[in-house]
This record gives sequence, C-alpha cells and structure tokens, in this order.
Amino acid sequence: MNDTCIIVGASHAGIQLAIGLRQEGWQGRILLLGEEACLPYHRPPLSKSYLKNEADLAIIHPQASLDKHEIEFLASTRVVRIDRQVREVLLDNQQRLAYTKLALCTGASPRRLSIEGSDLQGVHYLRDHADADRLRTQLPGARNVVIIGAGYIGLETAASLRQLGLQVCVLEAAPRILGRSVDEPVSAFFEALHQDNGVTIRTSCQVSQLVGKEHVEAVLCTDGTHYPADIVVIGVGVKANVGLAEDAGLAVDDGILVDSSARTSDAEIVAAGDCTRFPSAHLQRLVRLECLANASDQARVAAATLCGHERRHDALPWFWSDQYATRLQIAGVVDEYERVVQRGDIATGSFCRFYLRDAVVLSALCVNRPKEFIACKRLIATARPVDPTKLADESCDINVALSALPA
Ligand SMILES: Cc1cc2nc3c(=O)[nH]c(=O)nc-3n(C[C@H](O)[C@H](O)[C@H](O)COP(=O)(O)OP(=O)(O)OC[C@H]3O[C@@H](n4cnc5c(N)ncnc54)[C@H](O)[C@@H]3O)c2cc1C
Repeated sequence: MNDTCIIVGASHAGIQLAIGLRQEGWQGRILLLGEEACLPYHRPPLSKSYLKNEADLAIIHPQASLDKHEIEFLASTRVVRIDRQVREVLLDNQQRLAYTKLALCTGASPRRLSIEGSDLQGVHYLRDHADADRLRTQLPGARNVVIIGAGYIGLETAASLRQLGLQVCVLEAAPRILGRSVDEPVSAFFEALHQDNGVTIRTSCQVSQLVGKEHVEAVLCTDGTHYPADIVVIGVGVKANVGLAEDAGLAVDDGILVDSSARTSDAEIVAAGDCTRFPSAHLQRLVRLECLANASDQARVAAATLCGHERRHDALPWFWSDQYATRLQIAGVVDEYERVVQRGDIATGSFCRFYLRDAVVLSALCVNRPKEFIACKRLIATARPVDPTKLADESCDINVALSALPA
C-alpha cells in the first residue's frame, strides 16, 4: 500500500503508463514528473493544426481525469539523477523522492546542427509546444522559410507553413526525401506533392552555414548555392534521452535497452517510448521507434510489468503523417521485404503499397486509403499468407483480397 511508482517524463508514454498502472490494479502512489510546464499534450499537432493556429494545445488527460485515477502530476519538475542504491530520484530543486518502482519515459530530443550561424535568432527546432509557440510568434512578417531536413517533421512543417502563405524551401542532404522510412516511388510522390504546392525541394544538398548578423538571413550550402531565410527550421532527426539512465548505470545503446516486457537492466525499472531500444517481434532485431502508437503500446506493457503481470510488447507499430490534404499511414516498418505489390495508381494520390516476403505482407503503406490501412494492420499482425494478385486488383474488395490465400 505504501508503494510508490515514479514516472519520469510526462508525455505520451508517461501518461499512458500512469493510467495503465491503475488499470492493472496498482494500489500505491503514482508520481508523474515532467519538466514541461503544462499537462501532457498531444505532440503530433505541433507541426500540423497547432502550428497553423487552427487548434489549441490538445491536452491528453485533463487534471480531473488525473485526479480520478489518483495520479499526482508535478509539472516543471526535472529529474537530474537516479540513485538506484537507495531507490531515490533527485530533482533539479534538490528534493529527493523515494520510489519502489521507477519508469523512464524521457522521450527524445532534436539532433542539433553544429554549423556556423546555428545559434542565430530565427533558427528553430520543433519538439515541444514551447518550440511551436516560439516559431508561431515569428511567422507574422516572415516571408522566406528554409527547412533543413526532409523527414516527417521537416515536411509537415513545410506543408503547414506553405499553407500559411510563406515561401518554403526544403534542403535535404540525402539523395531523396523521407529516405529512412519509405521506398523510392513514395519519396518521389511526396517530392512532387510539395513541388505542386509551391515548395522548393533540393536533395543531395549539404548545408554549410547559416548567415546573418543577429537574425538569420540566408542558408549557404557546400555547392555554393544560398537561400534567403527569415526563418530556418532544423529537422534532422532526434536522439533518445538516455542521460539519466546512462548515469545510473543502466544498459544503454542508442536508446535505453529494454526487454520485450519493457524492463531495463534493473528489474525494478521499466522504460517506454521514444527513449527505448527493444527487441521487435516483427523485425526480429532491436529497434528504436519514434511514433506515438509504439510509445502508448509499450507504456501499457511497462505498466503491466510493474504490476507483476507478464506481457509482451509485440503490437504492430504504425505511424501516420499529414501533409496538405494527404494522409500517409504505415503499418509495420518498411524494411527487409522481398517484393512490393501496389494497389491503385500513385499518380492519383490514392494508393497502397504492400511489402511482402514470400506471400506474407510484412508492412504496408497507404496514401489516402484509410479502409485499406485498417484492413492491413489486422492482416499483418496475423502473418498469414495472401494472394498477391488479388491485393493488386482494385476490383477485389480489400478485405476479400487480404483473406484470399495463395493459389
Ligand atoms: C512535431 C511532432 C509531430 C509528430 N507527429 C507524429 C505523427 O504524426 N504520428 C506519430 O506517430 N508520431 C508523431 N510524432 C512522434 C510522437 O510525438 C512521439 O513518438 C511521442 O511523443 C513519443 O512519446 P514519448 O512519451 O516517448 O516521448 P516525448 O513525447 O519525447 O516525451 C518525453 C517527455 O519527457 C520529458 N523529460 C525528459 N527528460 C526528463 C527529465 N529528466 N525529467 C522530467 N521530464 C523529462 C520531456 O520534457 C518530454 O515532455 C511527432 C513528434 C513531433 C515532435
């Protein structure tokens, strides 16, 4: 009854873990500690509706819901050290809090670009709502935006700012955009989508310097090209926040290492969300994922583990991204497939690509195809073989196509 679970990090994983503890029957105290100043909120809108000023900050659970679940939430509270010997955490105000069980949900932080000029005014990263607010306040009066990095954050931000009427140029060092997560035809589709909406995209382009006196004025590339900029947004990936875990002697390797039950190398400590690297049941190797569904699923498993209920984190990861009126949805990870089956014509802006090994769909990517997405999420989880010819056949209902076995 006197047990206390401390959760460090109050975002998607942290809040889900707290609620999950109550659902699993945790009777003791739950302390949810977050360094940000507000209640946990939905992060995805920050590069979409929130950035465009179309929506308020979307709180995940209001205070009343936390009260109902008897979750004590401490905002603006940063944990600076874990003392595993005496089972305490040290806060930035020097206070010490004792735990029986500990959960690390510290998430990830943007990779910083260390080139000349990267500390100029007008240079932004986008991870939390304070970042989004800073960016929003600089938009009035701005004309030219340069986005460095054509991953999801960069491209969603490009779409949002373009929709606000700004001139947007995206600079990507790799030969194609979204290169880490989609295959070549899908990269080409998104490149064309942005260009059709008036965004300039340059690939194989290495940024060398941000130019300006106090405020950024231009971005310079190694090939000598330069781009005017009132605002620069850097989206070159994230790194897992592992410092606390590492200092406490937990096993860390590009993420806090956890087992399939979200246990760290200390059996009293679990971790969940973007900060972890874990054995993926689907990919049969260690992975670090940066998506909301994974953070929530893993947090549920971590809560069960803390309550002594053995469960495996084997839910299929899935992801979505909204750019203009286009919704991309990915079930699984587009990786290690042998063949691709396509349904629909990419040129129409509504299609699916299924990634198979033998006749088994390992992952699927849907653009403006919500019905297909739901159906393939279900199918992939079963790992059942299908008939690829039916998958490609638009005249065959997707549920029928996905249930048809190979001839
Ligand atoms: C702009 C944006 C758009 C996104 N869009 C999508 C999308 O469309 N689809 C999708 O699937 N995913 C999207 N994501 C990714 C998704 O938001 C993340 O996968 C998710 O937030 C991970 O949740 P988390 O709780 O693991 O980590 P985080 O959300 O990173 O939260 C970690 C929290 O821990 C706090 N913290 C860290 N260290 C400490 C400490 N020592 N003491 C106290 N608190 C600490 C941090 O301040 C933070 O609040 C988006 C992310 C961003 C930034």
